[in-house]
Amino acid sequence: MSLSRFDTLLVANRGEIACRVMRTARAMGLRTIAVYSDADANARHVREADEAVRLGPAAARDSYLKVEAVIEAARRTGAGAIHPGYGFLSENGPFVEALDKAGITFVGPPASAIAAMGDKSAAKTRMQAAGVPLVPGYHGADQDDALLRAEADKIGYPVLLKASAGGGGKGMRVVESAADFQAALDGCRRESRAAFDDDRMLIEKYLTQPRHVEVQVFCDSHGGAVYLFERDCSVQRRHQKVLEEAPAPGMTASLRREMGEAAVRAAKEIGYVGAGTVEFLLDADGAFYFMEMNTRLQVEHPVTEMITGQDLVEWQLRVAMGERLPLAQDELTIDGHSFEARLYAEDPAQDFLPATGRLERFALDLAGAGLGSSQKGSDKVRLDSGVESGDEVSMHYDPMLAKLIVHGANRDQALATLNRALAALDVQGVVTNRGFLQRLAGHPAFKACELDTRFIEKHEASLF
Ligand code: ADP
Repeated sequence: MSLSRFDTLLVANRGEIACRVMRTARAMGLRTIAVYSDADANARHVREADEAVRLGPAAARDSYLKVEAVIEAARRTGAGAIHPGYGFLSENGPFVEALDKAGITFVGPPASAIAAMGDKSAAKTRMQAAGVPLVPGYHGADQDDALLRAEADKIGYPVLLKASAGGGGKGMRVVESAADFQAALDGCRRESRAAFDDDRMLIEKYLTQPRHVEVQVFCDSHGGAVYLFERDCSVQRRHQKVLEEAPAPGMTASLRREMGEAAVRAAKEIGYVGAGTVEFLLDADGAFYFMEMNTRLQVEHPVTEMITGQDLVEWQLRVAMGERLPLAQDELTIDGHSFEARLYAEDPAQDFLPATGRLERFALDLAGAGLGSSQKGSDKVRLDSGVESGDEVSMHYDPMLAKLIVHGANRDQALATLNRALAALDVQGVVTNRGFLQRLAGHPAFKACELDTRFIEKHEASLF
């Protein structure tokens, strides 16, 4: 991969993440290039860029996912590097290879590292070799039905069937007993073939009350590697994160170090460069297991920025320019506590159906919420948004409008600030999940850190 200095950055994304990446790029003195589809011709990320290039029609496959169009836009504008954000082309190996050929820097890991983590079975084999703990299970190449069934019996029910090629929860099913195994296997194989053209399965012990705890890692191209501690993302709806926090409550210093070092081993095993996240399941007894590695900047990266005081996009751009990591492991510390709430244009009363329309008003009234509007006061509250008052919310893309991020001296203080900040959000014209976020953030069980990945399911009665 080509790493070299650049003065122009193309951001191959839209919405809040495109705006957030450009903010740091501008602060570093880089010229910023936006790309857009017809649905986004007047979007905030286009307004904020120094220059913008049209990619094509609204559908993502005709615009944001079009490798040749994105590379051509970079060529035409003299962009030396491309930041992919998350989603779209961020974990697309062939895109990274095409950039290498074109001599354009990809702000992310080498194609080989993306490939190593792209297949769940292959990734688990690599992680096992690197001494990273795995959920007990089977991830072998032999896919005979009877053999899989025997492996499931051996692991002990409940088990989780997962598509090796899977993602986004597709081709994944819990099997409660041996009697249900064959039907579940057939169903998963069908789903996986349809979604990924691949029906290889792996089996895991199904952990009944795990927490989702992930570690932020960073590697440079000189062999430097650090972890920037962990995030707890246990509050999920249909395997989608809703509320995240850092650090994870209840971590001991030794568990934090063990998980951090395992994550760094995982990254080093695959020759990683840049920002990455190693996701683990954490059991009630403190045992942790590798789940997967996301080879990109995560949606929830701001909570890590809040507790470490670091700008992860700046780190990414510096590493992409061939620089060493800005800090060593022993120079990184945790300050206070941070939460992130994801604001979606969706209707919780209608099974979270995506909502569209014109945003008549989109504002955060901090002073009104007693949070103060001074520079110092607003340091504690950050709104990463891809929209402004007057913008149109279409149905073409992910319905996330913005992320509300807060920081406090400790978890209780940060949670109080989150509740006040949520109340200070004034959104009119488009239905959002704000009320749902308020009920979550105000829930006594959440305040008491009773966290596991089924939190929303368990408390359904008081959340809807
Ligand atoms: P995908 O790539 O499809 O998102 P993951 O493997 O990342 O699938 O798992 C998604 C979510 O499913 C996790 O965040 C966790 O909540 C749950 N999960 C995954 N593996 C297990 C397991 N072995 N036991 C219990 N829950 C699991």
